[in-house]
Amino acid sequence: MNCARFQEVLPLLLLREAGPELLVEAKVHAGGCPACGALLAGERALDETLARAAAAEAVPPGLEARARRALGRAAGPAPVLRLLASAAAILLLAAGAGSVLLAPAPAEADEILAAAAALHRGVVRADLPP
Ligand SMILES: [Zn+2]
Repeated sequence: MNCARFQEVLPLLLLREAGPELLVEAKVHAGGCPACGALLAGERALDETLARAAAAEAVPPGLEARARRALGRAAGPAPVLRLLASAAAILLLAAGAGSVLLAPAPAEADEILAAAAALHRGVVRADLPP
């Protein structure tokens, strides 16, 4: 595996969507490549930070279910949807932290952030398995 391939599969690793063979290849590469090792460590730290932020959010009753229905996620999410949900949660949390949400009123923005946090909590759990 090279650096470009590692960066391509990194989201799959973080979401535990990589198969065992890919996981081993990626871990071997990250172990021997300082740049990719640092990238992996940084992504893990970001996931932990976001997971803590998400866990601290008080989600109004029923909001997560409404958000899931709105996203058409009644069944288990496909990997691509999980990646999109994770990216959306990251963007929304970053936007909320910087108070740069454009259109929504404050109460609506809080609801959107809470929904993003709830989705993120279900998407990003932990780092790579040992
Ligand atoms: Zn590398």
